[in-house]
Amino acid sequence: MMDWQQVLATRSGRMKASEIRELLKLLDQPDIISFAGGIPDPALFPAAAFRDAMDRALTGPMAGAALQYSVSEGYRPLREWIAGHMASIGIPCAADQVLITSGSQQALDYLGKLLLDPADTALVTWPAYMGALGAFNAYEPRYDRLDPKGNRPAEAIAEAAEAAGGRVKFAYLSADFANPTGETLDRSGREALLDLAEALDIPIIEDAAYQALRYDGEAVPPILALELARKGDLDACRTIYSGSFSKVLSPGLRVGWVVAAAPVIQRLVLMKQAADLHSPTLNQIATEQVARAIFDEHTANLRRVYGARRDAMLAALARHMPEGVRWTRPEGGMFVWLTLPEGMEGADLLARSLKSERVAFVPGRAFFADGSNGNTIRLAFSCADEAMIEEGMKRLGRLLRAV
Ligand code: PMP
Repeated sequence: MMDWQQVLATRSGRMKASEIRELLKLLDQPDIISFAGGIPDPALFPAAAFRDAMDRALTGPMAGAALQYSVSEGYRPLREWIAGHMASIGIPCAADQVLITSGSQQALDYLGKLLLDPADTALVTWPAYMGALGAFNAYEPRYDRLDPKGNRPAEAIAEAAEAAGGRVKFAYLSADFANPTGETLDRSGREALLDLAEALDIPIIEDAAYQALRYDGEAVPPILALELARKGDLDACRTIYSGSFSKVLSPGLRVGWVVAAAPVIQRLVLMKQAADLHSPTLNQIATEQVARAIFDEHTANLRRVYGARRDAMLAALARHMPEGVRWTRPEGGMFVWLTLPEGMEGADLLARSLKSERVAFVPGRAFFADGSNGNTIRLAFSCADEAMIEEGMKRLGRLLRAV
């Protein structure tokens, strides 16, 4: 038998199976009401639009190009559409400043690879998207807490990083309707974060996966838009914006993008050449056609449907949660984050819930870089209709009263 252990790179020891993925495998049973997967409702995918787009791309002279290798930067008409979309949210840019990635997950991996040496410090929110922690882990960072309004002086953050044998390399956050908390960093928090990044002289990775899914409240400009307003030139900006079509058109096609200063884009292109050459050509062509045809009306529909589910969940939580349970009130996205009474353990609760109440959710611990805060859970409202949400919260409330 091959002794795999002796040939594995050190970095592989930091790769753990994602709790969510392991969990999703258990959720096939039809009687489980699941608030676990942070995924779009498949009933809302624009399948007909994609069928037409793929059909067109594979018919006639375009078929050769659609099935051929293509450039690492991405399909130019798609990059042009994205540049227009970015302008509409306050970030005017050129197609050349856009790189297509295979989902925004790939951007997180590449940025970890680009920026982190072992023992460097990554500043991340507490909690943070566990897929980002998973992507960065391979590059063996130390994590420190990113709290834009926390008033921790930059010097103290930098000194702790040096004492740990590296330096602070970036700040990562999902700023809009975050995974997992659903919360949005307000404008003053974004300005404070830009000040902190200036003081530390580090990039900000702005993960905007849920940006288009606002249900109410006032839109907050992207961090990159605020920085652009300060500096007037994208190439002078330190914010790296990571966007995705996953939550609005289709996660299965794996199409995302990065907008950043030229030195970052150039290096990411080299990384993409080395890693996967380019994202699937056909998927990029179809995404461009579908985005051009229906993006606005489709996202408006998603906002209506998901917004109603968000409302249903907040109302059901108010009805059914016992004293001592607190939760966030997201203005968009897919998640509500619950803080349970001290000492309760989300993972234990999930085990009991699957057994007695048949309700699934994600225990919160895995979203904390230090594995703390076991008394938290994440609920996704994106895939359940209002009746299921009501029944699910009733069951969860019953369980919480019983423990
Ligand atoms: N960032 C966040 C905050 C996410 O929640 C997700 C998906 N769950 C991703 C990035 C990755 O999405 P994708 O690779 O499909 O764009």
